[in-house]
Amino acid sequence: MSKTIAINAGSSSLKWQLYEMPEEVVIAKGLIERIGLSDSVSTVSFEGDKHVVVKDIHNHTEAVSILMNDLKSLKIIEHFSEISGTGHRVVAGGELFKSSVLITDEIAKQVEELSDLAPLHNPANVAGIHAFRALLPNATHVAVFDTAFHTTMPPVAFRYPVPNDYYEKYAVRKYGAHGTSHMYVAQKAAEYLGQAPESLKLITAHIGNGVSLTAVDGGKSVDTSMGFTPLAGVMMGTRTGELDASVIPHIMAKTGISDVAEVIDIFNKKSGLAGISEISSDMRDIIKGRAAGDAKATLAFDMFVNRIQKYIGQYLAVLNGADALIFTAGIGENSVEVRDAIVSGLSWFGLDIDESKNVVGADGVISTPNAKVKVLVIPTDEELVIVRDVDKFK
Ligand code: ADP
Repeated sequence: MSKTIAINAGSSSLKWQLYEMPEEVVIAKGLIERIGLSDSVSTVSFEGDKHVVVKDIHNHTEAVSILMNDLKSLKIIEHFSEISGTGHRVVAGGELFKSSVLITDEIAKQVEELSDLAPLHNPANVAGIHAFRALLPNATHVAVFDTAFHTTMPPVAFRYPVPNDYYEKYAVRKYGAHGTSHMYVAQKAAEYLGQAPESLKLITAHIGNGVSLTAVDGGKSVDTSMGFTPLAGVMMGTRTGELDASVIPHIMAKTGISDVAEVIDIFNKKSGLAGISEISSDMRDIIKGRAAGDAKATLAFDMFVNRIQKYIGQYLAVLNGADALIFTAGIGENSVEVRDAIVSGLSWFGLDIDESKNVVGADGVISTPNAKVKVLVIPTDEELVIVRDVDKFK
């Protein structure tokens, strides 16, 4: 028996989940928020209790040491050495990392060098990596890349129609994201359907705060909706998804915003459901607003659904038909309304939901027996993929 911890370090947060392996049992989990700001909050969930501490945590190194000491003081572990593996979600692996890797000094340097592709995330990922390697010198440390699953995309999907130099010299291409989640639910779908992954054409729809869809052919990602960064693709909680790039200079000229980074920040943080509804980025609030007849919430909901439907249409074309559509993540797993709205507009393609199966807590097939394209709900589990990958290197 040994313990392995999955780490997801964001720009100002650190999410973790501690497992007993190889049993794959979650022992404890937690979240440290507001790192680098005042009144940081560390929450540890253990044996049904939530332990919350508020204090200033200045950086990720400090966050890791607080987390490790919390594990000891709450008697979740006795010694640091009980944790024999750490798995780090890394957002951008570029073209370099096609699968998970054992972290060495050289790998940590390469992850840092890829920061251009994820300026908010990769530096935080590297800080987490350094902190754990310092505190647990004898553990196995593994990097698991959000982009790895998408490295099988062919050039016809990943290239942008811009001058070749931009790709060749500046690495401008589609990388995608949420790869661990798309891979996990695609594999699970094959299990649920009792078929080999190699024989299946799937469309996986990860619909949470961030939203991405992937066309999976024979177990491999062949196209995905997120792009050079997670701003691309469908409309999301606070992100635009795709729009005409010419909007950017127009907004700058009209509003007087002189820094393009500010416009990109608005596209990332103040757009999507939040920008259209002017209520919230949270789908539960949008659904409430829509039910109460709020016109902006209704438009936000309809636009959100429409963008997802259009990507499903694209991927039915890319794959030349599909065996199944899989819903996952916060909205995909929980929202009966969103699933129903998406699928009910796609009946011509052979998608048909069974209303008695499209319920809260659904897990598995929710389509009617005769549906040409099956529809499934599969709860994602990115942390489990991460700790399994760590154990492969032990
Ligand atoms: P993240 O991308 O941050 O990991 P999640 O996958 O947790 O996000 O998804 C968050 C989204 O899931 C929010 O928009 C939230 O409203 C939505 N969500 C969670 N539960 C429900 C529910 N019961 N009905 C509708 N939406 C839900």
